[in-house]
Amino acid sequence: MRVPFIAGNWKMNTTVDEAVKLVNIMKPQLEATTNVEIAVCPPFVSLSAVRDLLKGSIIKLGAQNMFFEEKGAYTGEVSPLMLKELCEYVILGHSERRQYFGETSEYVSYKVKAAVKAGLKPILCVGENLAEIEAGRTEEVVTGQLVKSLAGVDQFPGTVIAYEPVWAIGTGKAATGEQANQVISLIRQTVTGIFDKNFAYDMRILYGGSVTGDNIEEFVGQPEIDGALVGGASLKPDQFVSIVRQTAQINRK
Ligand code: PEP
Repeated sequence: MRVPFIAGNWKMNTTVDEAVKLVNIMKPQLEATTNVEIAVCPPFVSLSAVRDLLKGSIIKLGAQNMFFEEKGAYTGEVSPLMLKELCEYVILGHSERRQYFGETSEYVSYKVKAAVKAGLKPILCVGENLAEIEAGRTEEVVTGQLVKSLAGVDQFPGTVIAYEPVWAIGTGKAATGEQANQVISLIRQTVTGIFDKNFAYDMRILYGGSVTGDNIEEFVGQPEIDGALVGGASLKPDQFVSIVRQTAQINRK
């Protein structure tokens, strides 16, 4: 049985002081949680401070991006080896990286390969935009992103995929549980084709896009959805704690 996973993507929010405060508020409320894996993904500059605060905690740590080279003359970039000392997970291919920083699926595949090589667990994001869903192209777009982003990638236990329809991110307009379940089922089939059935069965596939404490149940109650990648609501301790607690309590249909 897959253990549900809730990961908070803080995006470009929080100074180091604010990140420390946020963790100090959430940590005691989440510490006794069972039946769900939890991770927070603060900005790079806060990873070290948050890692120190989370020593001995059940809450795991992730980064929001990385470059694929291990070291060298790449001013401003952060490498897999640097992250490996600090955290367990790394979000790759987030739609904001694809949209604002020109990351293609091929480019994302270099990052996924580099993360796996370093022993970092990727949280690979895929999802269609508004024009694509309106044109009925969700299946084609999501499958294409997956195949290209996972090209040449080794099977790595702990790899996570997040289905994040771009039209649902930060808009307050979440997908329905059924819609997300259907696409996630397709993602699992595609992963089966790329790797194998056992790997695909064990892989956590999350939904992301305007998840809150008010709608999380709709998603984690679905048979194929193994948790959520949470943006805006992960910065609000009451919301994030509520999302985690509801996920811990849910009985799979
Ligand atoms: C995200 O950034 O991955 C995300 C899902 O954002 P939000 O929850 O704010 O829609």
